[in-house]
Amino acid sequence: MNKYHLTNDQLDAWKAVKKYAKGRIEPLAKELDSTDEFLLELFKELGEMGYLGATQSVDFGGSGCDAVTGCLILEEVSKASGAVGNSLNAHMSLVATLLDEHGTLEQKNKYLFDLTSGKKFGAFGLTEPSGGSNAGAPKTKAVPYGDSYVISGSKAFITNGAIADVFLITAKTEGGVSAFILERGMPGFQIGPSDHKMGMHGSPTTSLYFDEVRVPAENMLGEQGTGFKAFAKALDCGRVKVASMIVGLAQAALEAAIEYSNERTQFDKPIAAFQGVSFPIAEAATQVEAARLLTLNAARMYDQGMPIKMESAMAKYFAAEIALKVCDMAITVHGGYGYYADFPVERYYRDVKCYHIAEGTSQIQRLVIARQLLGRHPL
Ligand SMILES: Cc1cc2nc3c(=O)[nH]c(=O)nc-3n(C[C@H](O)[C@H](O)[C@H](O)COP(=O)(O)OP(=O)(O)OC[C@H]3O[C@@H](n4cnc5c(N)ncnc54)[C@H](O)[C@@H]3O)c2cc1C
Repeated sequence: MNKYHLTNDQLDAWKAVKKYAKGRIEPLAKELDSTDEFLLELFKELGEMGYLGATQSVDFGGSGCDAVTGCLILEEVSKASGAVGNSLNAHMSLVATLLDEHGTLEQKNKYLFDLTSGKKFGAFGLTEPSGGSNAGAPKTKAVPYGDSYVISGSKAFITNGAIADVFLITAKTEGGVSAFILERGMPGFQIGPSDHKMGMHGSPTTSLYFDEVRVPAENMLGEQGTGFKAFAKALDCGRVKVASMIVGLAQAALEAAIEYSNERTQFDKPIAAFQGVSFPIAEAATQVEAARLLTLNAARMYDQGMPIKMESAMAKYFAAEIALKVCDMAITVHGGYGYYADFPVERYYRDVKCYHIAEGTSQIQRLVIARQLLGRHPL
C-alpha cells in the first residue's frame, strides 16, 4: 500500500532515481547554473543508466517504462536540477517518443538506438520566431524536390539545439504540416549560439535556421500533413511529463523552506514557530501534493490508453501556477538570503518560471481545457 497507488516496479524505479538524482545530479546543480554549460558526460551517464530512453520500447534500446514511471524519473531529476530535467525531457519525452511512436523501422534503427543510449542527442523544433502558441501554423516550408524536400525557414527557443545531433522539426507542406528528421551538419542547416536566458542554465536553448536544406524524403516522420497532429499528440503526454518536472522543482523549494524555517531563529524561536511562516508552508505542501496527484492520475490514464488532452493540460496548468507561488514562498521564508545564489531557492524560481511558458503557456493550457469543456469556438 502506498498513497500514490504505485506498483512495486514503479516504487523501485522511484527509489532508484531519487537516490541517483540526489547523489549525482544535485551536487552539480549550482555550478551548472553559474557556468551555463551543458554537462555532456552526465548525459552520457543518463544514457548508460537507461534514463535517456526511459519510456521508449526495449526493442530500440529503451527501458520500456510506463508514463507514471517516466513522470517519477523526471520529477526527481528536475528536483535535483531543473536544467538537467529540461534537457532530458526534450530528448526523451519529445524526440525519442515521437520516433518511437511514428518512426519507420529504418528511422528507428538509424536514430532511436543512438538516442536511447546517449550516443546522440535530440532537439524538438516546433516554435518559430513568429510564434509558439499557434504552433500549428509554421512559416517554415518544405517543398518537394525529386526524392527529397527543400526546407526553408527557422525555429526559435529550441532546447538542446546547441548540442543536439538529431532534430525533429515541423514545416508546412501541401496538405498541412509535416514533420522531418534533420541531422546536424546538413548543408544549409545553421544552429545559432546558445541564448542567454533567466533560468534553466545548462540546458541550452537556440535558434535554428534552414536555408534550402535538402532532406531525403525518407526523413519525413509519419505521413505528409500529419506532422503537427503527431507533435500535438506527443505534447499531450509531454505536458504530463512537464507537470512532473514542475512538481519536482516545487517539492525542492518546499523542502528548502521547511529546512530553513526550522533552523533560522528570530525573536529567540525558530521562524517555523510563527504561523506567518508555517501556514504558507502548509498551504504550499497541499498544493504540491494536489499537483502531483493530478499529474500521476493523468499519467496513469495515459498508461491505460485513455485520452488525456484535458487532464494533461490541467496538470501542467495547475502545477505551473502553484509552483511559482511555492518557489516565491520559499524565497520569502529565506528572507534576504533567499534572494542570493548561496541558497538554491532563487534558482528554483528562475527555473520554474520557464514552465509558465514552455510547452504551452498557462493561457494556452486554459484554452485547451476550455475547448474540451465547451467545444471549439473561433478565436
Ligand atoms: C526555456 C525555453 C525552452 C523552450 N524549448 C522549446 C523547444 O525545445 N521546442 C520548441 O518548439 N519550443 C520551445 N520553447 C518555446 C515555447 O514553447 C514557446 O515560447 C511558447 O509556446 C510560447 O510561444 P511564444 O514565445 O511565441 O509566445 P506567443 O505565442 O507569442 O505568446 C505571447 C503571449 O500571448 C499569449 N497568447 C497567445 N495566444 C493566446 C490566446 N489564443 N489566448 C490567450 N493568450 C494567448 C501567450 O500565453 C503569451 O502570454 C521553449 C521556450 C523556453 C522559454
